[in-house]
Amino acid sequence: MANRIHNFSAGPATLPLPVLEQARDELLSLPGIGMSVMEISHRSREFEAILARAESGIRRVLNVPENYAILFLQGGASLQFSMVPLNLAIEGKPVDLIQTGAWTQKAHKEIKKICPVNIAASTESENFMRLPTKEEIKLDPNAAFVYMCSNNTIFGTEWSWFPETGNIPLVADMSSDILSRELDVAKFGLIFAGAQKNLGPSGVTLVIIRKDLAERASDTLPTMLQYRTHIKENSLYNTPPTFGIYILALVVEWLEKMGGLPVIQKRNQEKAAVLYNAIDSSDFFYCPVNKADRSLMNVVFRIKGDNEELEKKFVKEAEAAGLSGLKGHRSVGGLRASIYNACEPSSVQALVDFMKDFAKKNS
Ligand SMILES: *Cc1c(COP(=O)(O)O)cnc(C)c1O
Repeated sequence: MANRIHNFSAGPATLPLPVLEQARDELLSLPGIGMSVMEISHRSREFEAILARAESGIRRVLNVPENYAILFLQGGASLQFSMVPLNLAIEGKPVDLIQTGAWTQKAHKEIKKICPVNIAASTESENFMRLPTKEEIKLDPNAAFVYMCSNNTIFGTEWSWFPETGNIPLVADMSSDILSRELDVAKFGLIFAGAQKNLGPSGVTLVIIRKDLAERASDTLPTMLQYRTHIKENSLYNTPPTFGIYILALVVEWLEKMGGLPVIQKRNQEKAAVLYNAIDSSDFFYCPVNKADRSLMNVVFRIKGDNEELEKKFVKEAEAAGLSGLKGHRSVGGLRASIYNACEPSSVQALVDFMKDFAKKNS
């Protein structure tokens, strides 16, 4: 096997080894086709079969209801910050946004270019180290939609419940926790996720949209920016990111072989528990995130005293020991281990062992 190290990158992130191996084996020639997946027409029967595998795989594992479309788009999660309001805004109505970190702030910046935004709750004054409580969220009954981010990749918080929004569509950026746990899709009007954390390579964005919501958009909206276009053309209006969709199909099939969402959720809970327990029981490291809101995907931690020099040393020595990607996001500093679906429990154990050793040597 190739010399692979422990990868804790926040994204693009580690992929399941069996997926990479299959992609390698099929790179020059898809079985029975004699060409690489990168060399065939997106309108060929062969590619349509791959697209159907990706779509039906997502529909099966997430149990996506029939009245929802599954789309594979481009432009990253960031383009959805604009596409969502361009398609879902309603003249004269505000949007409710729950402000929980850098990604909702970026979305806020784009949504308010299109329509008025009401901040329904925000934990900014507490540096986003916790999520709002039910009581703190003030929803406007007249809102066009409610916008939130299910897992805050940078600050390390993750929602364990979702706000009840009644007839108002709930929109969620799930870029960093999609397919990491069981989910009731019917609670949402629209879910989107850049693929590069839990689904595959960068360049593909998954959108799951209740089909009737796509009808809100004006015909004057550029064709490529209308969800309607992509629903009608089954993500084949123009050339989609074919290689990324192929890898995504393999990732979803890998997940199903693992046992699907209940099994991966349990594995993710166990991995996170090992890491948080090691941090909480240490007198060298600490986790600044509110316990009830801690992410199972992005574990944010620091060295006590917020000693930046020592944190730098930690990242450097970890790298040398084969543990990569542990530097916190440049906007918050500190340390972060991203332990997405494809991160093996043995990698988490290797990290915990390294942390204990580092603490002993540097206390
Ligand atoms: C990574 C990330 C994004 C940005 O994704 P791009 O594909 O780079 O646009 C948006 N939201 C969340 C929650 C993320 O983790």
